[in-house]
Amino acid sequence: MSTIAGALAEVRARIDRAAAAAARDPKTIRLVAVSKTKPAAAVREAYEAGQRDFGENYAQELVEKAEALADLPDLRWHFIGHLQSNKARLVAPIARLIHTVDSPSLARELGKRAAKAGRSPLAVLVEVNVGGEAQKHGARPDELAELLDAVDAEPDLTLTGLMTMPPHDLDAARRAFEELGALRERSGGAARLPELSMGMSDDLEIAVACGATLVRVGSAIFGARA
Ligand SMILES: *Cc1c(COP(=O)(O)O)cnc(C)c1O
Repeated sequence: MSTIAGALAEVRARIDRAAAAAARDPKTIRLVAVSKTKPAAAVREAYEAGQRDFGENYAQELVEKAEALADLPDLRWHFIGHLQSNKARLVAPIARLIHTVDSPSLARELGKRAAKAGRSPLAVLVEVNVGGEAQKHGARPDELAELLDAVDAEPDLTLTGLMTMPPHDLDAARRAFEELGALRERSGGAARLPELSMGMSDDLEIAVACGATLVRVGSAIFGARA
């Protein structure tokens, strides 16, 4: 078994165990393999091991890898990095799900670009800066209601949930995941916002316990980044 295939199997087993511990169906938790900074060959290897959802953080890198891997028919790209409006035109034709909408102006631009690229309606999540950390992107909790309404108002976008980047500290990460779930409850619940994108290599078990439907795992699959 290749290193990547073995690591993937291990991560899937971690998700399965965490789901069992939380009495959740593991099929309701999607693994997004975060391939930023890793070569297209590594993505191909993971694909051959059965992985289908991949996450990228940088628009240009996404474009290059999508081109290099255009022969893989079922590969689904997720955009998980901070997205500037002027890069929306690069990402909208490729990504199946954008995890990081954080302003009404980005929502508008993405809607426009999705329509132009024939990708309407494009599924998006709204990123929330739950902890209010200054260096993090995402809407503040007190801006969330307005931003969700702005995304809903875009005819070429489909709002499917919320995303957050947790703090490194595991106790703080748990509080952030619980808060994201609470924000969802106050914003229409799972009927309006079925997806919660939270959890990474170090904290995916906590995220699954807190209701994550998408976990974004990079280094545990592809190894440490330079
Ligand atoms: C890099 C990154 C990840 C993956 O982090 P790991 O700790 O390597 O699993 C997940 N989400 C986002 C938004 C990232 O930028």
